Amino acid sequence: MDVDEKTAPSSECDGIVYYFCSEGCRDKFLKETVCKFPRTSYDLIIIGGGPAGLTAAVYAAQLKMDAFLITRDLGGQAIDSTKVENYMGYDFITGPELIEKFQYQLIHSHYIDHLINEVEMIEVVQDGFSVTTSDLNKYSSRVLIVGSGMTRRKLNVPGEEEFQRKGVFYGNIQDLSFVQGEDAAVVGGGNSALQLVENLKMVARNIHLISDGKLTADKVIIDRINLCTNLHIYEGHKVVGLKGGKTVSSITLRKMAGMEPHEIPVKGVFIAIGLTPNSHLVSDLVELNEKGEIVIGSDCSTSRPGLFAAGDVTNAYGKRIIIASGEGAKAAMAARRHILELRRATA
Ligand SMILES: Cc1cc2nc3c(=O)[nH]c(=O)nc-3n(C[C@H](O)[C@H](O)[C@H](O)COP(=O)(O)OP(=O)(O)OC[C@H]3O[C@@H](n4cnc5c(N)ncnc54)[C@H](O)[C@@H]3O)c2cc1C
Repeated sequence: MDVDEKTAPSSECDGIVYYFCSEGCRDKFLKETVCKFPRTSYDLIIIGGGPAGLTAAVYAAQLKMDAFLITRDLGGQAIDSTKVENYMGYDFITGPELIEKFQYQLIHSHYIDHLINEVEMIEVVQDGFSVTTSDLNKYSSRVLIVGSGMTRRKLNVPGEEEFQRKGVFYGNIQDLSFVQGEDAAVVGGGNSALQLVENLKMVARNIHLISDGKLTADKVIIDRINLCTNLHIYEGHKVVGLKGGKTVSSITLRKMAGMEPHEIPVKGVFIAIGLTPNSHLVSDLVELNEKGEIVIGSDCSTSRPGLFAAGDVTNAYGKRIIIASGEGAKAAMAARRHILELRRATA
């Protein structure tokens, strides 16, 4: 959330001036502690600020847990969804609008300490877990919730790395203007790829949709995109490379091995070919399935006591905002139960 230092309510504490997004937020800060000293030890650390991690954080605050959220960003994948039509309470809301509401709930109503940073390592220590961030700071907790979600898969073809952000994008809505009035390619056949087509249809001159198999998106979206007059669909085509100078100028496809490649001039290529779970941080600590997802029980527990996981990084059925949020809530409740059990055992 942006805070303008000129107009924001502020408070000085130990020589440091803190700025707040509202009077309510400042009052809460002043009421909860006289001054915020950076702490390194908590009962619970939550990793990830997508729907799973943010919901776990709100639940942890409501359950009055001593909790700390560490995340690379506040929002996760949901921020890239332009049309959320399946979240209860809203017939239609954009991902960024929904995430703003989640953030507001966390910061204004159910505050917990949080840090925007990348977690580099998780280790098991005597009384729980040690979490190292990219600035090499270490934080410890008795219990951990991993809600690190998924990351977009790459094509791994020549030109993809060279033209990163110079015509090669992975579906962020902000990047669409790069192809204003020009031709663009979308690679993928699922809901994310077809959502991109829907967003590009008023922006790009021609859209080339390339999928290595049949389109797999929901039928309702396929029906909608079939009405686009500037869309050209290439099912069963593989991308073999991207060419250009300073930026992308064409994409090369091949229908089948051995067939002649086919080059299409485009200004931008939007890649939406699926996601891989961000489970590498705990791959040595908990059981993963063949897809690399963290295997969880019905209470979000993993094969390691004290380590819970929620959302897209797990094998929970359904990769959806509402499911990740529900799992985050469950993980926080289960984490609290575990902390109470640990306390009882050592009392
Ligand atoms: C383009 C697009 C459109 C979508 N549309 C819809 C839709 O309409 N409806 C719907 O229900 N779902 C939709 N989804 C799916 C939905 O967004 C996901 O199911 C949901 O966001 C999963 O939430 P999550 O919290 O489990 O993971 P994520 O949203 O992936 O969040 C993971 C969080 O963990 C953080 N993280 C990862 N690794 C680290 C690390 N090492 N250190 C610190 N932080 C880390 C990330 O920064 C992020 O904040 C869409 C997804 C995409 C990509």
